[in-house]
Amino acid sequence: MGWKVELYEKNPNRHVTCGGLVSNDTLLDFPFLEEYVINRIDGAIISAGEESITVERRGVAWVLNRDEMFRGMIESAVSSGVEVKEEVWTPEKGSGRVLVGADGALSSVRSLVTSENPTYILGYQGIARWKEDDHLVRVDFGEWGPNFFGWVIPLGDGAAHVGVGVPLERSGLAHQLLLKYANYLGVEVKKEEGRLIPVSRPLKMVARGNTLLIGDAAVHVKASTGGGLAYGLKGAATAAEVINRFLGDEGKLEEYNTVHRKHFLPKLKLHWFIHRFYNEADLPNLLKQLQEGGLVEELSKKGSMDDPSFFLSLRFLPLIFRTFGPFVRTLPELL
Ligand SMILES: Cc1cc2nc3c(=O)[nH]c(=O)nc-3n(C[C@H](O)[C@H](O)[C@H](O)COP(=O)(O)OP(=O)(O)OC[C@H]3O[C@@H](n4cnc5c(N)ncnc54)[C@H](O)[C@@H]3O)c2cc1C
Repeated sequence: MGWKVELYEKNPNRHVTCGGLVSNDTLLDFPFLEEYVINRIDGAIISAGEESITVERRGVAWVLNRDEMFRGMIESAVSSGVEVKEEVWTPEKGSGRVLVGADGALSSVRSLVTSENPTYILGYQGIARWKEDDHLVRVDFGEWGPNFFGWVIPLGDGAAHVGVGVPLERSGLAHQLLLKYANYLGVEVKKEEGRLIPVSRPLKMVARGNTLLIGDAAVHVKASTGGGLAYGLKGAATAAEVINRFLGDEGKLEEYNTVHRKHFLPKLKLHWFIHRFYNEADLPNLLKQLQEGGLVEELSKKGSMDDPSFFLSLRFLPLIFRTFGPFVRTLPELL
């Protein structure tokens, strides 16, 4: 947009611990991502206990090479005239007219905007050889992913990311839990690594004064899955428009909070509700009812990884109401 930008990145050559999975909707919204696609995903196997369902739609999601995406975005910033400083940003370095905190899950800029502190899980994953269908991801609820789940994201070259989500207080057990999941799948996992994911009730405020938050710093993360790329990119695009109007004397930075509250918060709250709900619900029974109620087909046709509001449709609500206890216990999370 032609404004002068300084980008502080303490480690421009870093490796990014991430599954790299994004929905097809995200790819359509941000076509530059196509350059980083390494695999097409046609659906998901979701299991809990003895029950499992397979939701299928060709090209419903894509796997990105997250390291190349990170480096590519820095390169394209540089070629658009952004000055990259390979340094740690601290408040003493100043902020120009606008400061954007894109500094990840453990953001230090966040405290300039809000006193709210997100909750975290440890995302812990490695790489395994994958001989099953490499166009289907797996989501397996079980003892390996307390309060979360285990996942397989095939990379399309006979390998897959295999990971587990671990509550922070049990992060010391991450290796054992991943091993348990690997044994369940019958694979051997190598190159284990972990990173925090803000799986949390969303923030109420993402801008204050001249400071805006985007990505994990803004907790623009789907708490149902830990995926942060879709809302991270949407938030960044919105922030860019708001800043452009502000610098052109056509708007206020506060507009970013307004968009966040109107368009992001309701959906992020629903993801948080789903996260809380699956921790309370009898999941094997729920999967069985989805199967028997013919709702797997509905999920295959209309389900969205990013926007779970279809769960509030007439076809799904009776099922959710039937799990009355978990539903009532989780309801306050929507407020
Ligand atoms: C195991 C795992 C699997 C995941 N899988 C998926 C997935 O499949 N799909 C999905 O959508 N999401 C996934 N996520 C989440 C996703 O990776 C994050 O939401 C996303 O990477 C966040 O991007 P970000 O730019 O906000 O933060 P980050 O990627 O954390 O980037 C922040 C950057 O800021 C820099 N930085 C921080 N502080 C400073 C400072 N003071 N000065 C200078 N530089 C600084 C860091 O070096 C870093 O490069 C996964 C996460 C994990 C841990």
